[in-house]
Amino acid sequence: MLSNTDVAELLARQAERESGILSRAFRRAARSAFLWPEEVAQVAAQHRSLTELRSIGPFIEKQIRGWLDKPPQSSKKKPEIRCDFISLAEARRLLAMRPAWSKKLRGDLQMHTRWSDGSGTIAEMADAAKERSYSYIAITDHSKGLKIAGGIDEPTLRKQGIEIAKVNTLTSKLDGRLIVLRSVEMNLSPRGEGDMSQACLSSLDLVLASFHSSLRIIEDRTERYLAALRNPHIQILGHPRGRIYNYRLGLRADWPRVFAEATILDKALEIDCYPDRQDLNVDLLKIARKQGTRISLGTDAHHPWQLEFIELGLAAALQAKIPAQRIVNFMPTLDLKTWVQRIRDCSAEKR
Ligand SMILES: [Zn+2]
Repeated sequence: MLSNTDVAELLARQAERESGILSRAFRRAARSAFLWPEEVAQVAAQHRSLTELRSIGPFIEKQIRGWLDKPPQSSKKKPEIRCDFISLAEARRLLAMRPAWSKKLRGDLQMHTRWSDGSGTIAEMADAAKERSYSYIAITDHSKGLKIAGGIDEPTLRKQGIEIAKVNTLTSKLDGRLIVLRSVEMNLSPRGEGDMSQACLSSLDLVLASFHSSLRIIEDRTERYLAALRNPHIQILGHPRGRIYNYRLGLRADWPRVFAEATILDKALEIDCYPDRQDLNVDLLKIARKQGTRISLGTDAHHPWQLEFIELGLAAALQAKIPAQRIVNFMPTLDLKTWVQRIRDCSAEKR
């Protein structure tokens, strides 16, 4: 039986054979396959229309039904740019086998709002998080260096803090549990330097930082990672490789060394759970496990509904057998804050 991951690969290959609008439709369907909540083979077996699934129209449905009836044989190896991605259907199956694992999750540590390039307000993201019974979420809008994503400067981030405080006050009056943490996805230069003032960063609950430029370089970028990790104002390194499904491979580095440095500094590397990122991926997570590195889960959600992407990260961490105590988002709020403070204190001592 073909899995959604198999069908995604067939769709991606079909896209390469087509051109123009058809090629784009197949490409889009390939990416969407990772988000289908059920196995497409099961939907077909239940005599339902495949067009229930995202990005499948009647034309692509016919193509997929053909593949399901007679799975194409191919000796061609899957290209690396499409390797090691988990489908949501697979993630849900994995997580259902270990229900205790998902129950440990307390929150989501990367998401965007209207303050940068997201579509939801802070209150809407908080409502979506409450529905998932989270204890906390971190609002990580882009910083000023990433103009293309509406990155915000220090005064704007301060204003956002006022809105977050209002949401928190209202929440505590109503039903208590959720806390919205003030954070940022700070843009890092290829040299590992941030773009926000120290004073601004230390006023936040948590700082996530990511590379968004020079991501197609083939040569080893270990130094870039070490510099970023040693930046005293950062606790989490977001989407470390910068890979995107069928679009960009991401950076290379001496990963055992990068993870070992993170462990020494007690910092976390992220699993960006966005379906076409899944970055860190399972292979790198296994190296992180051996090096004893902390892992943070962030959906990188740009809409409230996208908080469900967290399942992809939970499944990847489970597959890589990351110990629960190393997952930052499994910590209660107070422990999370203590961890951040400890890193800040250590960095201050060194300066
Ligand atoms: Zn980013």
